[in-house]
Amino acid sequence: MSFRTGFVRDLSAPNGYSALVLNADYRPLSYYPLSLWSWQDAIKAAYLNRVDVVYEYDRLIRSPSISIRAPSVVALRTYVRPVDLAAFTRFNLFLRDEFTCQYCGGRGELTFDHVVPRARGGKTEWSNVVAACATCNLRKGAKTLEEAEMSLGRLPRQPTSEELRNAGRRFPPNYLHETWLDFLYWDVELES
Ligand SMILES: [Zn+2]
Repeated sequence: MSFRTGFVRDLSAPNGYSALVLNADYRPLSYYPLSLWSWQDAIKAAYLNRVDVVYEYDRLIRSPSISIRAPSVVALRTYVRPVDLAAFTRFNLFLRDEFTCQYCGGRGELTFDHVVPRARGGKTEWSNVVAACATCNLRKGAKTLEEAEMSLGRLPRQPTSEELRNAGRRFPPNYLHETWLDFLYWDVELES
């Protein structure tokens, strides 16, 4: 799995005029996936006074009935408190582990591995499942860490939403509109 960390500064809105959605503190509601609304939803929310329009696209959207400037960045008027603990999903687990095998640090084909094998009573939960490359997964098989003579880079645990948000900042989407960049602080050191 590879992620492009480069992005396109493009004013022509090939993203279909999506609006970046910020919380009331002007931080993105979500980094990964990036919180985006369709221009229809953004305009509707602005009309209902649920959001402030921070930036607009330069180009007008024209149709037989309307000609409008779509918001490119909107901010919620009411702060939405992020859920403190992240949901246990496959995606969030990969994100917690930064798409990296927790045994060898590789970024090859990723699978999930039960640290304590299921056959030995290991549960499918944050503290017992890690991202593992196919090679390490095969090598570990149904053995314990001791039996397989393998070790983990760090102990798995349930991340907070804040930690997942921070992890998400490392994986920017392929397209970012210029007006979004003020609100996004991607870490690009992974590229090196
Ligand atoms: Zn590995």
